Amino acid sequence: MFAINLFLPYLCFTRETCPNLFVVRCLLFEETIFHYLRDCSTSKKVWHGLGFTDINFFSNLNLWDWIRTNSIGPCMCLFLIELWWNWRARNIVCVGKETIFLFQVLAETRKLAFIMEVCF
Ligand SMILES: [Zn+2]
Repeated sequence: MFAINLFLPYLCFTRETCPNLFVVRCLLFEETIFHYLRDCSTSKKVWHGLGFTDINFFSNLNLWDWIRTNSIGPCMCLFLIELWWNWRARNIVCVGKETIFLFQVLAETRKLAFIMEVCF
């Protein structure tokens, strides 16, 4: 819960800084945090690549419930780190005007999750 309390205000703050209403990745949908973090096709590839393939993972329609539900249990660390890297990737592209590739997001997420598991 501590991580969520730190993460959500960050999302809200950075959302205001991007003038583009459409997702930088797909350019198909108006950017919402939920679309970007979970439902965008690129985000789904990352989630699937990390093993989040259960259909229930993608069926929750409430952002807060989705985060809270997945912030407990054995995949908590991987889930929260992926959220952070996914949002960081968005800011790298939208705010920093740089490029980050899908495999980098996957690799960095796995690397940080491994470090967190070893340390804690
Ligand atoms: Zn999208």
